[in-house]
Amino acid sequence: MVYTSLLSPAKDYHYQLHIAHLYGDLMNTYGDNGNILMLKYVAEKLGAGVQVDIVSLEDKFDKDFYDIAFFGGGQDYEQSILAKDLPTKKEDLSAFIENKGVMLAICGGFQLLGQYYIEAGGRKIEGLGILGHYTLNQVNNRFIGDIKIHNEEFNETYYGFENHQGRTFLADNQKPLGKTIYGHGNNNEDGGEGMHYKNTFASYFHGPILSRNANLAYRLVTTALRNKYGQDILLPSYEEVLSIEIPEEYGDIKSKARFEE
Ligand code: GLN
Repeated sequence: MVYTSLLSPAKDYHYQLHIAHLYGDLMNTYGDNGNILMLKYVAEKLGAGVQVDIVSLEDKFDKDFYDIAFFGGGQDYEQSILAKDLPTKKEDLSAFIENKGVMLAICGGFQLLGQYYIEAGGRKIEGLGILGHYTLNQVNNRFIGDIKIHNEEFNETYYGFENHQGRTFLADNQKPLGKTIYGHGNNNEDGGEGMHYKNTFASYFHGPILSRNANLAYRLVTTALRNKYGQDILLPSYEEVLSIEIPEEYGDIKSKARFEE
């Protein structure tokens, strides 16, 4: 049964957004749920009330009702449980993604949007198969640590913390979310991290990604609002609602000592 996990306070919001938290009761490692809190925070700043629903095993994903879908990370065990349910949602999720619905998938969720994921133990889990990427395993190793990437198209830099054993390889029609400046990224080979296709964004960043990268949160929420209410609606700028001045003496506060000394 789909259930509402979070609601904006009963106020007169100008807009309303519906967020589906896919398998939110299973896929929620490393504080990924913070992404939901951040979406809600940013939406409210922009004048939108939100309703967040957990859409889990045996629930229908209503592609016409939801404006944003979030699919968090999880351990191999949880991934293997929900893999059996994925085919029931494939058609609706695929239509949502192709119709430019806004989606964010993290780590295990990112892996399962793709063709398949090879668990640490070598077992193959079939993914949704909506997007072309696939994920191989690695022997007795995980990619763990701070990571920084740059997205040239948006000229934005994102920071996070990665912790995954899977090594993901993108298909030709998928772009990475950014070029890795430090850290391992998708596979430690091709210099890419995450994925961007239409309005679907994916990443290995925990942290959670949106609270550490309010610029990305702003992009997701404004894209969803424009999809729903029209491309030309006037929304407060990022600077007006979210930018925080970091005093110069703090410099690049993200892991500078460890990686750039
Ligand atoms: N179980 C997957 C891996 O180890 C995903 C991990 C995660 O979502 N944090 O690669």
